Amino acid sequence: MADKNYYDILGISKDASDKEISHAYRHLSKKYHPDINKAPDAEAKFKDITEAYEVLSDKQKRANYDQYGSADGPQGFGGGSGGGFGGFGGAGGAGYGDFSDIFSDLFGGGGRRQRQDPNAPRPGADLQYQMTLKFDEAIFGKKDKINYRREAQCSDCHGSGAKPGTNPETCPDCHGSGMVTRTVNTPMGQMQTQSSCPRCQGKGKIIKDKCAKCGGAGKVQENHQVEVNVPAGVEEGQQMRLQGQGNAGENGGPYGDLYIIFNVLPSDKFERDGSTIYLNKTISFTDAALGNEIDVDTVYGSGKLNIPAGTQTGTVFKLRGQGAPKLHSESKGDELVKIKISTPKKLSPDQKLALRAFAEASGLDTPDEEEGFFERLKNKLK
Ligand SMILES: [Zn+2]
Ligand SMILES: [Zn+2]
Repeated sequence: MADKNYYDILGISKDASDKEISHAYRHLSKKYHPDINKAPDAEAKFKDITEAYEVLSDKQKRANYDQYGSADGPQGFGGGSGGGFGGFGGAGGAGYGDFSDIFSDLFGGGGRRQRQDPNAPRPGADLQYQMTLKFDEAIFGKKDKINYRREAQCSDCHGSGAKPGTNPETCPDCHGSGMVTRTVNTPMGQMQTQSSCPRCQGKGKIIKDKCAKCGGAGKVQENHQVEVNVPAGVEEGQQMRLQGQGNAGENGGPYGDLYIIFNVLPSDKFERDGSTIYLNKTISFTDAALGNEIDVDTVYGSGKLNIPAGTQTGTVFKLRGQGAPKLHSESKGDELVKIKISTPKKLSPDQKLALRAFAEASGLDTPDEEEGFFERLKNKLK
């Protein structure tokens, strides 16, 4: 026990929190659960993971382990029989309970602490599909056909896995329960342990003549096409559920669902936050000073914006109802237009004259017309 590094087994650091410990355990125990992972070393790994979790999730055991390298504390401290007793309780009791936790997680059993009937209908797994949309497609929505691989119910045997015309038989060893009970003698008396039936591998039934099409699995991989109606106004990261478009269920259970996850490409003109559209608009300094009605781009084309006289750079105007559609609603957001005022880079002689007149009328000091920058600098330094 002492030569195992429980922290390494769970892939966590020595100062991991309780939360990190249970997270690592849940993740790894699912991955290596012998009913799921058929690798030859999965069971040994699963046992190590469970052992590491039992020690590290118990404050006292973890403290002992950190200090003495053993969950039982210093060697010989607890006495011979005491140490053995502790170890036994840990392996049997806690381990069994956690097993059913994992199963209820995996199969949506809703926290029942009993293994499910293997013949009960179970829904198929949900699938995900990433759909990339252009900026405009997310605003206006679109219809699209998508193709993906999924597990479908075998059409020859209708999911039973048995050759058409035959039926799977109930396993005679476990009578369909998929579990066998063994009685073992322990120092505390007789104890019953349950384990997966080896004859039917926990399925509860045996297929003598397998369906040729699916090889007894009851399912086949297929290329599946489905039409997606992307609603107007979807946003980056939003999901859409298509019921029954996931994998086939077990024992006549329903198909799982398909989740479409949207990925929206940016626009080179607009920014978007929910239903609000943002636009930067540069206007001339005369429009800003005198006021004007100008055209601005919207996602729907263009709109008119009234710039009042005396508009400053950074002012934000709202175009009501020109934003993105709101999902599941008739209404639309707004477009916010942020104004930037441009200063002309080159002036004609007439424009210069007009601006000088403006400056004089405003009582502003202006440099002499003919004097260049270095001339002025020289004059200043005199
Ligand atoms: Zn079949
Ligand atoms: Zn059986």
